[in-house]
Amino acid sequence: MNAEFRAPKGTFDLVPPRGEAMLAVREAMAAPLRSAGYGYIETPSFEETALFARGVGESTDIVTKEMYSFTTRGGDDVTLRPEGTAPVLRAVLENNLHRGALPVKLWYSGSYYRYERPQKGRYRHFSQVGAEILGTEDPASDAELVVLAVDAYRLLGLTGVRVLLNSLGSHESRPAYRAALQDYLRGLDLDEETKRRVELNPLRVLDDKRPEIQKALAEAPLITDFLSPSDRAHHETVRSLLTAAGVAFEDDPRLVRGLDYYTRTLFEFVHDGLGSQSAVGGGGRYDGLSELIGGPALPGVGWALGADRTLLALEAEGLALPGTTGVQVFAVPLGDEAAAWAFGLVTTLRREGVAADVATGGRGLKGAMKAADRSGAKYAVVVGERDLAEGVAQVKDLATGEQQAVSVNELVTHLKRLV
Ligand code: ATP
Ligand code: MG
Repeated sequence: MNAEFRAPKGTFDLVPPRGEAMLAVREAMAAPLRSAGYGYIETPSFEETALFARGVGESTDIVTKEMYSFTTRGGDDVTLRPEGTAPVLRAVLENNLHRGALPVKLWYSGSYYRYERPQKGRYRHFSQVGAEILGTEDPASDAELVVLAVDAYRLLGLTGVRVLLNSLGSHESRPAYRAALQDYLRGLDLDEETKRRVELNPLRVLDDKRPEIQKALAEAPLITDFLSPSDRAHHETVRSLLTAAGVAFEDDPRLVRGLDYYTRTLFEFVHDGLGSQSAVGGGGRYDGLSELIGGPALPGVGWALGADRTLLALEAEGLALPGTTGVQVFAVPLGDEAAAWAFGLVTTLRREGVAADVATGGRGLKGAMKAADRSGAKYAVVVGERDLAEGVAQVKDLATGEQQAVSVNELVTHLKRLV
């Protein structure tokens, strides 16, 4: 350990080139949304605690175990956002976006915080890109979001992402299913905490990852058998639109997710190269959420993609990290006068759109050429006092080693042509 401080437990720093790769991951997730007309929204990184308690659900893991909550100096109870949907919906209602033309399509990108047991792919500070469509129950919106997420993974070159799809039904189907599931679960030999969950939120028991529980659930009733005709029709439309769009998906009638607000369509994107933290993204429809946080009826559907796990998935597939940038031209000045001139040169190049850097600190030729190689530049501009006196600079192709004297007056034009 070199310094006194380390990043807090469950967090990590992104240093180059992984830093750039993370930016590129977020960009790739945003690109399909941008080309589909989604508007960008930013909300604060903390909210009133009650928003999450009500919006995410009192009985969820997030609310019971994972929130970073604190009381401010002024006595307000706030929580670092553990997810993006409740804040976005809060912002939509507060800014009256739902009173304009519907649907409202939004995307966002940022940091999220959950007090989890840190493991590979599970952090206390992580990064998501999210999208929401508000104000329509149209199954085409559900399908659109799944397609846009799949397109983002494709853009990144990932081939190992699978789409799991389910419908949790609406208020027309859920109560009967909930009762049937509860009946079944009450007949099992479960620990006290799980028994409590059976009474509070039986669907969440399906999400229990313990093998003995999964085994006991083998004969549990399936939501698919309880869907009302309109819930079934909604689900079938989503399925056929996905098929028409060439998106392969797996029906997973046991898929439930950690948030209480989902209705009808539910989906998860998983990658098998990630061990037990296999979900790279997920989402679904949440037609009752607006009412839960005190708003009018406002149906919605959305997803959040995990950027950290997506970066791990790229590494698991052995793909070259995207977004790795460097400069195109590297200036190597020899002597003070040349250094001042080279400073001017790289300033001009940068303003003209050529990525450029310069050796600093009066480095000798050998050290500066090493820096030029490391920079990733294709060309070095080597210039000494004698060159300047003659009005030229040496342009060196760093791949071939070929060198050519170019008049300083032509240099910028010459380099722009080369790169
Ligand atoms: P998991 O079942 O793995 O806990 P989740 O259902 O809690 O995931 P969501 O709330 O749906 O996750 O968040 C969407 C995505 O954000 C996840 O699919 C995952 O890629 C990512 N994500 C969630 N929690 C974390 C975390 N603690 N660290 C890193 N990424 C996370
Ligand atoms: Mg979780």
